[in-house]
Amino acid sequence: MTDNLSFSDLGAADPTTEPFWQACVERRLTVQRCTACGSHQFYPRPFCLSCEATELEWVGAKGSGTIYSLTTVRMPVSEDLAPPYLLALVDLDEGPRLLTNIEAESAGIGDRVTVAWRRRDGLPPLPVFRLSAG
Ligand SMILES: [Zn+2]
Repeated sequence: MTDNLSFSDLGAADPTTEPFWQACVERRLTVQRCTACGSHQFYPRPFCLSCEATELEWVGAKGSGTIYSLTTVRMPVSEDLAPPYLLALVDLDEGPRLLTNIEAESAGIGDRVTVAWRRRDGLPPLPVFRLSAG
């Protein structure tokens, strides 16, 4: 079953990012893949960062990665996120690095993480990460 949300429903009237948010509705984490050179990238862009080709496709990411860097945010910056919380750069196994929230009391650089989905009223679920089991 697919929920087809409009750009305005998604809160992102941007054809470059709209496929990403559509996949989030189905709780699928996706990244762009260049059909010319095979590079993966995130966040979405209208061209490949490696070879500047404009032929990009959306592919599913495994949803696993490794913490590259992290910090604890102790100042409130958004009503949706009560401090303290962990903000991290996660290297997805496909290669792209993304800024995200780690749902854990504590974590460390190099820790393995797995995508989780945070429900949001009126918006697609937001991909966040949790420490991988084992
Ligand atoms: Zn490319």
